[in-house]
Amino acid sequence: MFERPRGTRDFNPSQAASHRFVERAFRRTAEAFGCREVLTPTFENVELFKAKSGPGILDEMFTFKDKGGRDLALRPEFTASIIRFYNSELRSEPKPLKVFTLGNCFRYEEPQMGRYREFWQWNCEIIGAPSLESDSDVIALADAGLKQVGLKKTELRIGHIGMLRKFLAFPPHDQASVLHLLDKKRFADLKTALARLGAEQLFDIVSSVAQLKGGPEVLDKAQSLLGQAAKEAVEYLRMLGGQLALYGIKDFVYDLGVVRGLDYYTGMVFEIDSPNLGAEKQVGGGGAYTLTNVLGGEATSSTGFAIGIDRVVLSAGQEGVRMAPRPLDAYVIPIGQPMRAKAFEIVMHLRMAGLCADVDLMGRGPSKNLDYANSVKARTSVLIGEKEAAKGVVALRDMESGKQTEVSVQDLVAALKGGGEPKAHKTGKKPTRRATKP
Ligand code: AMP
Repeated sequence: MFERPRGTRDFNPSQAASHRFVERAFRRTAEAFGCREVLTPTFENVELFKAKSGPGILDEMFTFKDKGGRDLALRPEFTASIIRFYNSELRSEPKPLKVFTLGNCFRYEEPQMGRYREFWQWNCEIIGAPSLESDSDVIALADAGLKQVGLKKTELRIGHIGMLRKFLAFPPHDQASVLHLLDKKRFADLKTALARLGAEQLFDIVSSVAQLKGGPEVLDKAQSLLGQAAKEAVEYLRMLGGQLALYGIKDFVYDLGVVRGLDYYTGMVFEIDSPNLGAEKQVGGGGAYTLTNVLGGEATSSTGFAIGIDRVVLSAGQEGVRMAPRPLDAYVIPIGQPMRAKAFEIVMHLRMAGLCADVDLMGRGPSKNLDYANSVKARTSVLIGEKEAAKGVVALRDMESGKQTEVSVQDLVAALKGGGEPKAHKTGKKPTRRATKP
């Protein structure tokens, strides 16, 4: 017996179905917002992630050398890859470039509930359109994705990194380390760091701002605490609130403690929590940033986010969202050996018509086969015996009600696609149900 690597998971059919359900909702939402899917490599040169996030990222990644001695890393996120791809090949695409991707990421973390070494993300970016509308479109996309999944209890928190950047006008390296501590809410270390920079008097102000959370009134408070440094950001956040209202998004809070620690975040930043998840409750986050220049291209404004699929699945499970796999529409049961050929013919006919259909592979008798159909939750069983075959019909049994009707082989697809109770076959009459779903 072998064990799987620490921090990884196997997904049984029902877990895999939940995972794909969430992915499908995200993919459809992104497409509905005019985003196009891109795919990038599962591993990249280590240097890419170091350039984006600094050398500290090395401790958080799975790194290895290939046989040619190149230093590689399994991707810990997608933004670096997408921006690399943009710089090298997508620069001349019409703007805004709206792209998304879905896939697994790897981080060398201490595993716990909601925190894994292999996990999945939905990542969206709008590149090359620095505007209030792009920021609101990105937030609305994240929000809509979670609503499509069926989540009702998420909390959207929106802040702006610009005001603290202006207020903490230290050299870039010092500013980055202070913001990093704020991001991690390490207030004691923050106090020490500010003292080291000779700015201990700023601690009370900065820590008060970082704890401001609520309606538009917190913007006034930030303005009075930070003065002129907050003016632009506060105005922007007010306008963003108005813009989000156009999308019907009113249930968010301003949270000026949202500090995404990395240097390339420039303006609006946001995070989304699912409070029912406990310690690892953050399901996603993002904001406005400029990274193209950090990775060797021309400065281009972008805005985007990453949402963790694993945590969304956990949260949806807790909220009672049904994420069932596609049910088996029909289980085909031959009655007696001579009918097996006909059964295979019928099952393939159903499968090629886009239905989920299976057939007895074990040579079982009808009652065992009905038990099996029940246990795999097939919607119907299609029984085919010599008597039925002679008439060109099958017996279609609704597995929930137990009701059985004769349906001509010709009308079977329509009867199954119509859903619900199978319609009885009336000879000489055309099928009334549509052959395909709208
Ligand atoms: P980040 O790229 O760190 O902003 O992460 C974006 C989202 O990915 C988080 O809000 C989580 O939902 C998810 N995520 C990040 N790291 C992990 C992990 N180790 N395990 C599961 N989900 C994660």
